[in-house]
Amino acid sequence: MTNLPKSLRERLNQHYAFNTLTLVTKQGASDTTQKFLWRLEDGSLIESVLIPANPALYGEASDRHTLCVSTQVGCAYGCKFCASGLEGWKRNLGVHEIVEQVIATERWHASSRTVAPNSVGRTAVPTVSASVSPATPPAATRLVNNLVIMGMGEPLANYDNLLKALKILNAPWGGGIGARKITISTSGLVPQIRKLADEPLQFRLAISLHGATDEVRAKIMPVNRKYPLRELTNACDYYQSKNGRLITFEYILIAGVNDGLDQIKPLSKLARQLNAKVNLIPYNKVEDLPWERPDEPTQEKFLHALESEGITATLRREKGHDIDAACGQLRLRTERELATAKEQ
Ligand code: SAH
Ligand code: SF4
Repeated sequence: MTNLPKSLRERLNQHYAFNTLTLVTKQGASDTTQKFLWRLEDGSLIESVLIPANPALYGEASDRHTLCVSTQVGCAYGCKFCASGLEGWKRNLGVHEIVEQVIATERWHASSRTVAPNSVGRTAVPTVSASVSPATPPAATRLVNNLVIMGMGEPLANYDNLLKALKILNAPWGGGIGARKITISTSGLVPQIRKLADEPLQFRLAISLHGATDEVRAKIMPVNRKYPLRELTNACDYYQSKNGRLITFEYILIAGVNDGLDQIKPLSKLARQLNAKVNLIPYNKVEDLPWERPDEPTQEKFLHALESEGITATLRREKGHDIDAACGQLRLRTERELATAKEQ
């Protein structure tokens, strides 16, 4: 921009950056779940996952997409089953790094329609920057119309940056994504759930429950010791009392840990009390961790037992299981590969 005065260019350069995310790898075929591994300016790695709404149900891929966004590098909450927390917490993402996950994904999409489509499987793109074009993609190439804040990190532990980013992604002059199309997932940070309830924007809230009694939940989620179920449900009650905001319970099924039918009664009671829907998610195996998903008959039995209690429940037949779509896994693997490469 040599038509601008040099001093202004220097000031712009000092205070603003255009694109800070660089694509390291992408996994997955273009009509299914795709996972992006981004490198940030300080070399940290984060992930975003793009999920088509109706993956090629009638032979044609849907143009509606959900993007799963990360909010931190690593995670401090140390849930026993999760890859994101395995190597601890490194830092919060900045507002721009949250927003840019959407922009960089859309830019990648726009450019991949003019370049040869990426092949199925893991595609290494070490030198391609996400900055395909410096301009915001034109409306026709807009891709993401749903957001789930379920990538790496605990979103409510990065509350201020998350809220600023979501306001930008929601604004008509920004991402234009409706607040009700944005779901924030939390492991259950009670004070922040109450604070979120008081925000004017009505986001959807997903609670990572994974256990319907304190005994089971505390075994796999250390956060339950700080905020046990009674406090969590009270905060959820408050959230819901504000204009009937919708709550979903996420419940990973882990073999022999929380998939017993003894969880059905307490889980149904909580779901009934909060009028919450239950999403059952078969556990995604994480390298080095001992946990396994239950077999399909056990998953179905759990689902049917919940349904017969009158609870609205779904069993996710995992999209992206084969590409390590659960949070933190691609980063973990890549960091380990990089460490091994360095050693050699
Ligand atoms: N920290 C937030 C959001 C990120 S995790 C939270 O915990 O809700 C997003 C979801 O992925 C959570 O429900 C989490 O429990 C789940 N998850 C983590 N590891 C998983 C795995 N290996 N298989 C399936 N789901 C997993
Ligand atoms: Fe952190 Fe969520 Fe993983 Fe728990 S499940 S370690 S809170 S990212």
